[in-house]
Amino acid sequence: MDIVTLPSRSVPVLAEADICVAGGSCTGVFAAVTAARRGARVAVVEPQNRFGGTATASQVCYWHSIFNLDYSRQIIAGMTDEILHRLDRRGQVDYADGPDPSWYARLNTEELAIELDELVVEAGVLPFLHTRAVDVWRDADGRPAGLLVAGKGGLGVLKAKYLVDATGDGDICAAAGAEMWRNPSLQPPTACAKMSRWPEREVGMFELGKWIHAEAERYRMPEGMIWGCPTPGKNTFMLAGTKIPDADLSDPAELTAGEIEGRRQIRAIQDIVAGHGLPRPVLEALPSLIGIRDTRHIRSLYRLTTDDVLYGREFPDTIARGTYRVDVHSQNPPGTRFLYLDGTEVFISPDRENEATRWRPEGPAPECYNIPLRSLIPAGFDNLISAGRMIDAETGAYGAVRVMVTMNQTGEAAGNAAYEALDKDTGIPEAAGL
Ligand SMILES: Cc1cc2nc3c(=O)[nH]c(=O)nc-3n(C[C@H](O)[C@H](O)[C@H](O)COP(=O)(O)OP(=O)(O)OC[C@H]3O[C@@H](n4cnc5c(N)ncnc54)[C@H](O)[C@@H]3O)c2cc1C
Repeated sequence: MDIVTLPSRSVPVLAEADICVAGGSCTGVFAAVTAARRGARVAVVEPQNRFGGTATASQVCYWHSIFNLDYSRQIIAGMTDEILHRLDRRGQVDYADGPDPSWYARLNTEELAIELDELVVEAGVLPFLHTRAVDVWRDADGRPAGLLVAGKGGLGVLKAKYLVDATGDGDICAAAGAEMWRNPSLQPPTACAKMSRWPEREVGMFELGKWIHAEAERYRMPEGMIWGCPTPGKNTFMLAGTKIPDADLSDPAELTAGEIEGRRQIRAIQDIVAGHGLPRPVLEALPSLIGIRDTRHIRSLYRLTTDDVLYGREFPDTIARGTYRVDVHSQNPPGTRFLYLDGTEVFISPDRENEATRWRPEGPAPECYNIPLRSLIPAGFDNLISAGRMIDAETGAYGAVRVMVTMNQTGEAAGNAAYEALDKDTGIPEAAGL
């Protein structure tokens, strides 16, 4: 790649905050609001026109269980609960009839975006939409002391004592020089789509998978698990039916190609459905950001292992809990492997009935798994913390903890950890006693 050198230039300081959060998904907003409610001056930067990340920009609408494994005790509360209550008051969330490993709550994600606006405004967080963090800004000693951002007005700096990287891909940790790693086989990205006139009664997801399997070559469709659901209000159906194999969407060229290929596949699915003599589903809304499952992870103070998750290991610095199964989408063989805390293992493939086995013999199961704060702190940094999917977790562990009810908690934990450090005027690990 050709390199050019820009002449040195001055850029405006857009704000001076105590804590600056890069990335405004629920994870990032929860980090920002948590710290702001405790009294910190907080800014949050988000490239989309709205907050919510994968939930809003990428249309992913299911939140999973907030209870322990046998549903006898609620284990997740905080801002996840708060958002559910706020949406529920407006009738914008549907709940599963009973315990269901596939979902607990189904959100109207358009309404979620407005709810997140309100949270940010109420907490006095300084928002920067249509703004991307492009680098870390360093003080004279070379220490991270803010973000270089690119927005509608060009480049600018947000100064901050503490940085929270909630960009999903770990853009800020990588820019700061933190050690990053990738799973050997990345889970594929998926472009979701909202459709009306979706033939829900005529074709179930397994049937659709078989249709796609039969026409995979003609339509150049990669295979794998497909899911979808009606959105609250039932006017549209959200379909997660596409996938981009072997793509790392933290790479700008692959991100561009992935967006275009995802939309091509959405159209191919409409064609496949219409080709079976059904009315062509009407495309009502495309995502403004392809759904990204897995890219870069940080090397932290502790890598969460798959056994930690499956056996429910406890930690002195636990900051998040969950019960969602290990859920790893693979391309070879195409399908999704689920490992449940109760020992069950299920492999769902596009054209065969589910295969249920066990990954361990019958026996007592943990009530949940736990995530330590250490898995969010990049090794070697004291004023930078991550939140969200760049968490330091092995492939299987990541397959479980990547869901939103868990990622939300990492946001709140990062906001709290940064606030504690600010309050004690020290580093994040030290403030947490690590
Ligand atoms: C297709 C699909 C289906 C899924 N299904 C479910 C499901 O049913 N239920 C569930 O709970 N989970 C599901 N997941 C997983 C879950 O949605 C994600 O793991 C989770 O939302 C990740 O949250 P995050 O905040 O870490 O990242 P993201 O949601 O990716 O948020 C990152 C945010 O940072 C912003 N950003 C990126 N770069 C920068 C930058 N340089 N500067 C500033 N901001 C930046 C982005 O615009 C985005 O808003 C699914 C994921 C996918 C892709």
